[in-house]
Amino acid sequence: MIPSVLPTYNRAALQFVKGEGAWLTEADGRRFLDLGSGIAVNALGHAHPALVEALSNQANALWHVSNLYQIPQQQALADKLVEHTFADTVFFTNSGTEACELAVKMARKHFYDKGQPEKIEIITFDGSFHGRSSAGIAAAGSEKMTKGFGPILGGFVHLTFGDLDGVSNAISDATAAILIEPIQGEGGIRPVPDAELKALRQICDAHGLLLILDEVQCGVGRTGKLFAHEWAGITPDIMMVAKGIGGGFPLGAVLATEDAASGMTAGTHGSTYGGNPLGCAVGCAVMDHVSDPEFLAEVNRKSGLLRQKLEGLIADHPDVFEEVRGSGLMLGLKCKALNMDVVNAGYENMVITVPAADNVIRLLPPLTLTDEDIGAAVTRLDQAATQVENA
Ligand SMILES: *Cc1c(COP(=O)(O)O)cnc(C)c1O
Repeated sequence: MIPSVLPTYNRAALQFVKGEGAWLTEADGRRFLDLGSGIAVNALGHAHPALVEALSNQANALWHVSNLYQIPQQQALADKLVEHTFADTVFFTNSGTEACELAVKMARKHFYDKGQPEKIEIITFDGSFHGRSSAGIAAAGSEKMTKGFGPILGGFVHLTFGDLDGVSNAISDATAAILIEPIQGEGGIRPVPDAELKALRQICDAHGLLLILDEVQCGVGRTGKLFAHEWAGITPDIMMVAKGIGGGFPLGAVLATEDAASGMTAGTHGSTYGGNPLGCAVGCAVMDHVSDPEFLAEVNRKSGLLRQKLEGLIADHPDVFEEVRGSGLMLGLKCKALNMDVVNAGYENMVITVPAADNVIRLLPPLTLTDEDIGAAVTRLDQAATQVENA
């Protein structure tokens, strides 16, 4: 008999009932160190007082109004995002997937309204992840995600990750945009080198294409900059944001330049919940923290400390781990052992990591992780690795 919850997930037998900072309490009372943050969502950790206050104040005042009316919290969050990024304008969604939907629509409408309706193709890369909607799976294009769900939305050209020559060769009169994650998350913490992001920006400029960055996982302070593309010194035309921006409240956004967004006039897009007062009140509190240069400096300092300890861990367990990669507090441990065995051994040692493609385990801790937490993380990962070795 089918379970009452549609069985699309392989769930661990863990049930968390409370969270505080980087720690989660299981129903049986055990305390787990959370190096997953609900997949890069709880950017400020669990039950951060500023987020609890923002949410409960807003909950007491007003939960929801339609986008038929002015929403001051939404205006305030859009202003913050515009102030701190390349963007001139923001549309709020409930998730990263919906951000992908709009990014695709926005790019196509941009060219349609400029009298170039033939420009519909979007170049994407293997190993990417852009959500599970029809556009999201078509954009990523992997058989794992698309098989059985045809007809698959057309207009995506899939290239090998890192194949810059392929990009130039793939561009035609039909090309509208290049869509890429500055650091692939689900794909196994695969960073796009700064030089490559710069080259993609130049290619887009040379051919009049839009550069769409998916920063759903790598954005919002995760890499030690507010957004990951800042490391490369470039800006996109359109950017997808979600996960960390709501700190645990479902919230996403599409950020864009005025020119890229020029086709999205009144009536061309909408969302019932996107940008509602609850989500945006929390989003404002998240932004106030993560946009602070001192907060970002701390993310970078802690990243250095964690990486250094992880190098030691790899040296101590050469049969389990191969390398550490990534940026800021978006780190991947490429495994020699089966990554799922390491994740499961982590559970037994009360440390949570997240598996990814390419036999990687992801470390995406709350950005508020303390030095003490980092010590505990490495101790528990060391115990887990020892357990894998002895299995
Ligand atoms: C998680 C993720 C998405 C999809 O976001 P949802 O909120 O799950 O819809 C899209 N792109 C990237 C890079 C992601 O990591």
